[in-house]
Amino acid sequence: MTVSVVLFTSDLRLHDHPPLRAAVDAARETVPLFVRDPAVDRAGFAAPNRLAFLADCLTDLDAGLRERGGRLVVRGGDTAAEVCAVVRQSEADEVHMAADHSAFARAREERLRQALESEGRRLYVHDAVTTVVPPGDVTPQGSDHFAVFTPYFRRWSAEPLRTPLAAPRTVRVPHGLRSERLPTSASVADVSEGLATGGETEGRRRLGAWMSRHADAYEERHDDLAGDATSRLSPYLHFGAVSPTEAVHRARSRGGAGAEAFVRQLCWRDFHRQVLAARPATAVEDYRPRHDNWRRGADAEADLKAWREGLTGYPVVDAAMRQLAHEGWMHNRGRLLAASFLSKTLYVDWREGARHFLDLLVDGDVANNQLNWQWVAGTGTDTRPHRVLNPVLQAKRYDPYGAYVRRWVPELAELPGSSIHEPWKLKGLDRAAYDYPDPIVDLADGLARFRHARGRD
Ligand code: FAD
Repeated sequence: MTVSVVLFTSDLRLHDHPPLRAAVDAARETVPLFVRDPAVDRAGFAAPNRLAFLADCLTDLDAGLRERGGRLVVRGGDTAAEVCAVVRQSEADEVHMAADHSAFARAREERLRQALESEGRRLYVHDAVTTVVPPGDVTPQGSDHFAVFTPYFRRWSAEPLRTPLAAPRTVRVPHGLRSERLPTSASVADVSEGLATGGETEGRRRLGAWMSRHADAYEERHDDLAGDATSRLSPYLHFGAVSPTEAVHRARSRGGAGAEAFVRQLCWRDFHRQVLAARPATAVEDYRPRHDNWRRGADAEADLKAWREGLTGYPVVDAAMRQLAHEGWMHNRGRLLAASFLSKTLYVDWREGARHFLDLLVDGDVANNQLNWQWVAGTGTDTRPHRVLNPVLQAKRYDPYGAYVRRWVPELAELPGSSIHEPWKLKGLDRAAYDYPDPIVDLADGLARFRHARGRD
């Protein structure tokens, strides 16, 4: 065979890329293709932070291919139509791509398979590219997916891990194929000021630096809001600029409690994907309905607005929401606190919060975002669905000196130590000196309302 095509989607890397390896091995020349499909944007992808990060990833991928004698071909339009056009123009015989698991991705794959078959061409879909263990590979008896994390983790951990593949040395691309210009992150408007730089090069640098400097302390420090000691690899994993298999491989080779705890977090990623693959409707519907009668109307709208803007009067919640706005990323403990506050303390529908997160998160991902929101709201896979996180106690525990709040809520920065977590306790003139709102809800009232709504009082 002379020409193959590799279609990149959410696997924007050259290292540990089985479809690329297979495409290069199968043919004399390979077309590395990315299609900017408007249907992906319509499906909710097109948030500025993700568009900017994507542009960086594509630029970096193109640079990596050029170093190997090739280049990235970019087309705009319907994926099936564009891939078929490239196949015809390059006279390719086969197309390789990574399996992906959302309802959208699976429908796209099916349409592409049929379109290629009608042209007499074959689509090869490779597993374990966007996940470590493909959804459906491990299942409990009598079900198509695991609904509880711990038994899933046990089975997942026992699965064989393939050895990560090196990047190909050379990629020969046929001459004369038209390509659109690569998008640039600078041309995307409304991007968060502190957005990370995308791309495989940066992702691999971070993975290496974090493994050698921070992995050992991960278990003790991953919840330290101010310490910022997590890997920050989530956007690179989301866009596939870093291989999850390679990340697990490197962590296991390093060993130790920190690396193991990190592997466990990577397993959460696969866990949510296997839930979403088996129950695609959970992107919008409750996984375990609790018959919630979420608050609606003007008061709920006002609370939602205050939450979005980081003006709830609870400093740690506001700090987290402002980090999200500024960086397009939020610390996991912040996500837990902010989501619990909205869905349980304010009792506003988790879908409202999930939508706002997806508007801003650079790692915004249907499986991880929607199913983590459901976990926190108690409609998902949490085995303690009625737990409520108290933002003051959580703040004192995970930001004991107030450094995280001081960073993101500068109007309170002069308050000493952990007193920053309860500014409403200041009296008279002291209180008036701070231009910061009173709490929009009393925590005890919020808890009582939630317990009543869930029929637990
Ligand atoms: P690390 O602590 O370094 O963990 C390593 C990797 O493990 C992460 O990059 C991520 O890929 C994975 N991981 C860690 N925690 C989780 C988890 N709870 N669920 C699934 N995977 C996990 N993560 C996303 O990637 N996209 C989202 O849209 C997203 N939305 C979330 C919404 C809510 C309400 C909550 C509570 C969590 C959400 N998470 C999401 C999970 C988690 O908060 C982020 O993955 C993590 O904070 C990313 O930071 P990190 O890369 O430094 O993580």
